[in-house]
Amino acid sequence: MSRSPLREQFPTLVGEHFQVWVSEGWLSLVMETLQLLLQEQVITPALRVFQIKQKWGDLIINGEEFSDRAYAVVREAEIKSKSICEVCGKPGGPITSSYSPRVVGVRCTNHFSVISNILIPDESNEEARKLNEQL
Ligand SMILES: [Zn+2]
Repeated sequence: MSRSPLREQFPTLVGEHFQVWVSEGWLSLVMETLQLLLQEQVITPALRVFQIKQKWGDLIINGEEFSDRAYAVVREAEIKSKSICEVCGKPGGPITSSYSPRVVGVRCTNHFSVISNILIPDESNEEARKLNEQL
């Protein structure tokens, strides 16, 4: 894989400067959520998503012109992400690092020791692309 599947599948929803910083295991949750936001875009045509990332173990979707329902959709995805392994998509729980008590990711029992970033390839993001080439 060398291209972000999201930009191709949701061209009207994700902007030109769209960035995605989540791992493969969350891809179906992300797709599901973007599909719901696409439905909201019918009502609010200016709705855009410009960033999808993992922060402290939560899926964060940032954009503009979000309606109340769009915010609810994004919030729901954030709650679901807390129990989905970022590596494989199976049920998981929060993990912390040895440096801080904060949650740094979500992993299943098979992947709890995997701390490296495994990102969805995004050709617009130099750093993400380099990380993927190293895998
Ligand atoms: Zn896993």
